[in-house]
Amino acid sequence: MSLEQLVEISNYYGIDEEIVLMGGGNTSYKDNDFLYVKASGTTLKTITAEGFVKMNRAKLTKVWSKTYSEDFDMREEEVLTDLLAARETTAMRPSVETILHDLFPQKFVVHTHPTLVNALTCAKNGETWAKKLFGNDLLWLPPLMPGYVLAKEVKDILANYKENHLKDANVLFLENHGIFAAADSIDEIKTLMNNILEKIAGQIDKSGSENEIKLLLSIGWDKFSEKYGIFTPDHYVYRGNELLFADSVKIAVYAKKFGGCRAMPGWLTKFIENWEAEKYRTAVSGK
Ligand SMILES: [Zn+2]
Repeated sequence: MSLEQLVEISNYYGIDEEIVLMGGGNTSYKDNDFLYVKASGTTLKTITAEGFVKMNRAKLTKVWSKTYSEDFDMREEEVLTDLLAARETTAMRPSVETILHDLFPQKFVVHTHPTLVNALTCAKNGETWAKKLFGNDLLWLPPLMPGYVLAKEVKDILANYKENHLKDANVLFLENHGIFAAADSIDEIKTLMNNILEKIAGQIDKSGSENEIKLLLSIGWDKFSEKYGIFTPDHYVYRGNELLFADSVKIAVYAKKFGGCRAMPGWLTKFIENWEAEKYRTAVSGK
């Protein structure tokens, strides 16, 4: 059963703290008609079949033929309404990255924020290095507004890739964020991810970095983030969390190999800050 395989690959990456931390990352399986995607608020480490939301793919696709409001907030709300209306069961909310999962034609999609990958995506010369390691065809997107803006951009580069290469892209790097890997079997996903992680690891002197990591950990999160900024949305959302702090420190040290680390742009951090405040308000007001 494919849903069992989806649970298997989700738990497989979920227990690996170099790949998934806290509630980060999401996974999906699709057939022609339905997409099963991780519900928000669940974690890959412990997710079971019940933790996935069944989405109607024909309804999801309608997002692309609609004209939404020009206003950012209004448009995101309209898209969210359509996203929620595409659910087959209404008990849970699908991950905010659901539309991105649907855009990949492959059966399985695994989206994670691995430390090694983010040593590249949060580095000044990350894109150049990624192309050196994985070829010039590699898909790489700069930091973008989450939601519709990001989804539209992903839709366009995937379509463009297919037109130029006559095949579907199976990997996408997102700057200051993470990676999407897509394949028709979970074994192919593992091979794809292993190859990527090994190639990046091959560039990094992990044991030689230990002292520097210890030193940076000793200065504490506040001083560290003041000096280096925030690397990815998760590092903001889970700020103060020990695991995410250690992850930030490793990214800063490993990224030296790739031209030095680079924080998320200020406008994106600000956006996530407001977005989080909004979510909090909605939660306390019970709306
Ligand atoms: Zn993500």
